[in-house]
Amino acid sequence: MISARKLWQRGCDLLPVAGFYFDRPLMLFQSDDWGRAGVRDQEGWDELRSGGFALGERPYDFYTLETADDLAGLGATLKRHRDSSGRRPCLEMNFILANPDFAKMSADGWRQIHLLPLVEGFPLGWVRPGVIEAYRVGISEGVFNPALHGTTHFCRPAVERNLYAKGERADLLRTLWQAGTPYIHWRMPWIGYEYWDPEKPEDERFLPAKSQLELIGQTVVAFAKLLSTLPHSACAPGYRANDATHGAWAQHGIHVAQNGPGRIIPPHFDRHNILNLSRTVEFEPATDPKFSVESCVRQAERCFEKGLPAIVSVHSINFHSTVRDFRSRTLELLDEFLTALESKHDDLLYLHDEDLHDLVRNGFYQTPHGSVHGNVIRKNFSKARLSWQRTA
Ligand SMILES: [Zn+2]
Repeated sequence: MISARKLWQRGCDLLPVAGFYFDRPLMLFQSDDWGRAGVRDQEGWDELRSGGFALGERPYDFYTLETADDLAGLGATLKRHRDSSGRRPCLEMNFILANPDFAKMSADGWRQIHLLPLVEGFPLGWVRPGVIEAYRVGISEGVFNPALHGTTHFCRPAVERNLYAKGERADLLRTLWQAGTPYIHWRMPWIGYEYWDPEKPEDERFLPAKSQLELIGQTVVAFAKLLSTLPHSACAPGYRANDATHGAWAQHGIHVAQNGPGRIIPPHFDRHNILNLSRTVEFEPATDPKFSVESCVRQAERCFEKGLPAIVSVHSINFHSTVRDFRSRTLELLDEFLTALESKHDDLLYLHDEDLHDLVRNGFYQTPHGSVHGNVIRKNFSKARLSWQRTA
């Protein structure tokens, strides 16, 4: 049976919406999961292996946490490139603002979740000198632009419910926590995503609007403490956002919403006056066994041909290096990708989310080298008429 909510959504998808198209090739880069701790480097990896985990089955078993060197390497690669206005590519960096506080959780017998804000550092057992400073350096150099991902990536009520139920899942959580690892999502998808609890009935999976509003308010405060600025763009963990999420974002000053890949859809405003962007190029060499630079170039050019920005998705795992060196290969491929596009398109522009918002609103955006003007073409489209197509 189709729920009333779904029918309403289908009706909305038929209505024409104003989409924005451009007469120059525009490129944006959106990157998730910065600040989120995973497997605690080689030491945590060995501890979990000796505890019976068959680690190594999927790339996210090798997901650790960026180091200051990873960030410096990424920054150096981006700084080697320029667009037609003289500007560097800039990575929209979506932050997770807290990790589980293992010191506090262990002190009370692993009975509940305590969180450690990112601004206070990393949880017990983690060593990451200079990382927070390295984020700030990349931001001040204009190669990173910080945006909101969440306070946690997992749905806190889902994890707490399973923890209190004291079954196998609670044991799994405690084993990981004792090894300094918050979770490995593919091994336990029941933890959900921050605003989305997967084991609730379908219509109740998203947290209530009031909880989301409160949570997003706290996340924005944590973001401001870490980076001394306010976020203007946001991406929900797992891309699980609903109308309540967008409403809460709007109330907290967000004016760009990042959506996941899957559909080539023009930038457009929603009813909260938030500019919605959808990712159209999947640059994920660490997790995509079929990855090729040529295919990414083709995906980008398909967007340019349609008058749409190429919005590149590249998760933080691609730059990690402590258990498996994903970083070296990613940086080589990224260099190749940017070089190919720059040489083929002499009018290429690198923007971040906020710039695209300014361009749509005002017809120009500011860079350190001055303002860049562009033609914005407004054309109606209907979401229902766009066919679903994987971009990779
Ligand atoms: Zn994420």
